[in-house]
Amino acid sequence: MVLENLEEVNQRILSACKRAGRDPGEVTLVAVSKTKPASMIEEAYSAGIRDFGENKVQELCEKYEELSKDIRWHMIGHLQRNKVKQVIDKAVLIHSVDSLRLAEQIEEEAAKKALTVDILLEVNVAEEESKFGFRLDDTECAIRKIALFPHVRIKGLMTIAPFVENSEENRFVFKKLRQFYVDMQSKNIDNVNMNMLSMGMTGDYEVAIEEGATLVRVGTGIFGTRYKIGENEV
Ligand SMILES: *Cc1c(COP(=O)(O)O)cnc(C)c1O
Repeated sequence: MVLENLEEVNQRILSACKRAGRDPGEVTLVAVSKTKPASMIEEAYSAGIRDFGENKVQELCEKYEELSKDIRWHMIGHLQRNKVKQVIDKAVLIHSVDSLRLAEQIEEEAAKKALTVDILLEVNVAEEESKFGFRLDDTECAIRKIALFPHVRIKGLMTIAPFVENSEENRFVFKKLRQFYVDMQSKNIDNVNMNMLSMGMTGDYEVAIEEGATLVRVGTGIFGTRYKIGENEV
């Protein structure tokens, strides 16, 4: 099932690129494997997928130990400061830096390990109460502060768009983040070289690609539905 799903997702990515006149080489599919077993990850791996996304530090660390070392693990979920030190040497990219304090913690732990950690700033474009992330209005200020941290490298921006019935409803969210991203690129802030835009999930990745996403995070579309425990989707 994973292989068939992947084929379909890859086709849809290609079509979206074609519609937008984009080179498919600019778009990386991050297969979101949270809650899914190693066997399913291996199936996707056998089809050539190397980028996998997890939203919990413990799960990412366990899978990191268990699975192939050439997998690129992406931390995409809200990160607690006390877990930063476990994840910074395992994830290739932290998509979900949602506060200055978290960035400071990453800087501190990265300095101890003499690492440079690549991050994206998570932006709550639609200003949903329930979501983490910087308000768009506060993001430039945060970028300018974090740009001064020697062990952290801002590679771009990430957003989680609202849950909607029709993905077209999220087009303005992606457009808005992309506009801001281009604006930031043009400001040539020292030590900031933004070339990654992480946006789009199973329900809306095609629209996100049309609007400029360079990383799409697709879980359900590849691995099928996740189970829910209580109120929290796991
Ligand atoms: C779970 C998750 C995804 C994938 O969601 P799907 O709708 O299953 O594709 C993408 N991004 C983040 C941040 C997630 O937590």
